[in-house]
Amino acid sequence: MTSGVIFDVKRFAVHDGPGLRTTVFLKGCPLSCLGCHNPEGQGRGPELLFRPDRCTVCGDCVPVCPHQAITLANGEVRIGWDRCQLEAACVEACLPGALELVGEVKTVDEVVDLLEDDRIYFDESRGGVTFSGGEPFSQPDFLRELLYRCKERELPVVLDTCGHVEPALFQELIPLAAHLLFDLKVMDEDRHNAYTGIHNRWILQNLEWAGNELGSGRGKGPVLTVRIPLIPGVNDDEENIQASARFLGELRTPPPVDILPYHRLGVDKYDRMGREYGLGALTPPSQVAVQLACQLLEKAGLSVSVRGEQHGDD
Ligand code: SF4
Ligand code: SF4
Repeated sequence: MTSGVIFDVKRFAVHDGPGLRTTVFLKGCPLSCLGCHNPEGQGRGPELLFRPDRCTVCGDCVPVCPHQAITLANGEVRIGWDRCQLEAACVEACLPGALELVGEVKTVDEVVDLLEDDRIYFDESRGGVTFSGGEPFSQPDFLRELLYRCKERELPVVLDTCGHVEPALFQELIPLAAHLLFDLKVMDEDRHNAYTGIHNRWILQNLEWAGNELGSGRGKGPVLTVRIPLIPGVNDDEENIQASARFLGELRTPPPVDILPYHRLGVDKYDRMGREYGLGALTPPSQVAVQLACQLLEKAGLSVSVRGEQHGDD
């Protein structure tokens, strides 16, 4: 039985596709966006998180760590992140729940059983399951089997992707979904590289294929929605928005666009993981900047919505 690593399951989600949804977050992402709101989803394996706000400084975790990765000094717990080997003895010992291991191995059967429990509200709300991440394609065999099983059981699937997927794999698996949420961050390759740590050639190639080959709900294949996380100083300038508008407007079926204004939820996770947040004290975009982005996209004939809610990974 194929298994994979997931780091969260969000029930009754209302922002990850139509209706009420159960969003399953798969671990691993080929990008490392500076403003990622799910840094615990980037690595492929389980990871340790420490929440100082829950720590009572009882010291119970210190002696149980076989690698001496936890110390108590000046009334504070310190984690030696580079020493931690993820055996999680400290997590067991920590009764207040300040230590947490993120990322759990689940079989396809276990995930499908969990989704079946939610079928009743999928049916009533025309919702379904959303596979998100991280990047769901980063566990291709697990994702493939999940998609086939959902198809068999008529559980409608939304795939939420960053688009950096080997194109043959992308084209193989996308038709199994009912709806595709495709994130578009930066058009210029060098700037994309600077923000995400990787080129955008596959992203643009896959988006072009999706925009030319998929329907808009009336034709064959899943519905495509493009999501642009609007991040001040990263991609909210006129040049980038115009380039995005041109690219999307020239697709055979120009997709609807959701603008997701940058927000700071998730920033504290970096502290919990002993990492530094890549965008410092950046604040959300102004209303004017959001409106300008909408106008530029609408001028290219695109239908644009602003989603103020906190999305899973952007
Ligand atoms: S066991 Fe938990 S609460 Fe106690 S010191 Fe360690 S992290 Fe803090
Ligand atoms: S924002 Fe999304 S695409 Fe970027 S690193 Fe995070 S999970 Fe990956």
